[in-house]
Amino acid sequence: MRGIAYRRQKEERAKARARRKLQTRWNWTPPDGRPAHHDPGQVGYLATTPAPCSCPACGNPRRHFGELLVAERRVLDQLSDQISELRAEL
Ligand SMILES: [Zn+2]
Repeated sequence: MRGIAYRRQKEERAKARARRKLQTRWNWTPPDGRPAHHDPGQVGYLATTPAPCSCPACGNPRRHFGELLVAERRVLDQLSDQISELRAEL
């Protein structure tokens, strides 16, 4: 089992990655504050939340449009292929 030093190193790496993302994607400074990549709250949030947005453009299509996920569609396609192969053999 890995120790606390390893988890701290991983956390620091995730926060450094989040800082880079915030600096490049949301390089905007609010009039009364510091830029987002200097805000520890923003950095921590993005470091622990890999997909921070769930709007209809980014989010789960099942939730917003009732669609199946890509993996589920793939499984259903394979199933129907197997069924048609079985029918052809009979
Ligand atoms: Zn979004």
